[in-house]
Amino acid sequence: MKAFITGGAGFIGSHLVDTLLKNNYSVTVYDNLSSGDKSFIQHHLKQKEFTFIHADLLNLKRVTKELQGHDVVFHLAANPHVRLGETQTDLDLNQGIVATYNLLEAMRQNDIKKILFSSSSVVYGETTEPSLPETYGPTLPISLYGAGKLGAEGLISAFCGTFDFQTWMYRFANVVGARGTHGVIVDFIKKLRKNPHELEILGDGKQCKPYLYVSDCVDGILFGYTHSNQKMNLFNLSCDTTTTVTRIAEMVTEEMGLTNVSFKYTGGVRGWKGDVPRFQLDAEKMKKLGWKATLTSDETVRKAIRDVLNANL
Ligand code: NAD
Repeated sequence: MKAFITGGAGFIGSHLVDTLLKNNYSVTVYDNLSSGDKSFIQHHLKQKEFTFIHADLLNLKRVTKELQGHDVVFHLAANPHVRLGETQTDLDLNQGIVATYNLLEAMRQNDIKKILFSSSSVVYGETTEPSLPETYGPTLPISLYGAGKLGAEGLISAFCGTFDFQTWMYRFANVVGARGTHGVIVDFIKKLRKNPHELEILGDGKQCKPYLYVSDCVDGILFGYTHSNQKMNLFNLSCDTTTTVTRIAEMVTEEMGLTNVSFKYTGGVRGWKGDVPRFQLDAEKMKKLGWKATLTSDETVRKAIRDVLNANL
């Protein structure tokens, strides 16, 4: 089985590459290294079953050429920073929607019809629901990143309807773990290394979200893929619990061995404009298939803090 992974040199993508190669897939990574890191896939570069292509999805001609001969596409490439949309308003339009269109069109030209996609909880927007099932609607994102994800979901769905594609789309919770390069854990560790006495926390610290460990995420993606076979397979990928931002700050200080750190909140319910402060994903659909995250949200956060500290970013 020949897999084509966009964003395979990134945080989640590189773990997916490790697992697919272990499972005897032949793997091509297509990545422009805008937020990925070649060192994450360095250990595979000399393997016969592995190919790395340093290129951009915005280059339709190149992706059409490189896709030739593959059986399945895992589409993880995107701008990963929700916040950047505030200042670069065309970023998610290009990296989320145009890049996805190019990939789908290149697949159509190569007669490749299976696509797995890394969507996000942010497509649901800000709601009052305690827990969001895949059937929740209307989906009204409040960030440009979320709009990019929802637009990409729409395009994939349309290619399924119009060109008989088949898809597995996953709305991830917050994914953390080894090789994590962004997000609240990395941010707190970097800040505390600079100043171990005081930690600036965006918002009021009560933001509360589910955190999913990266190996659970990869395991869930592959479990859904091998255990469901509808034309459109849409899943939330999450654990059942949540962690507050203040709790993350406490765990980071504990793991760094710091005491008497003063937490300075910037205030307001959200970290930045477009941030959804509280949500939980309903993970029942994956559970019915037989999959469940192995770690709780708090266990995930603690393990990820240790990973990031060990990596010495
Ligand atoms: P990441 O930045 O580590 O990975 C994204 C990869 O895509 C990078 O290697 C980057 O270089 C590559 N890329 C970006 N634009 C590209 C382009 N135009 N052409 C080719 N390659 C390109 O981020 P991640 O956290 O591993 O996220 C992977 C996917 O999962 C993304 O689509 C992200 O939106 C989604 N996601 C992540 C989380 C999370 O918590 N990490 C949550 C929900 C969804």
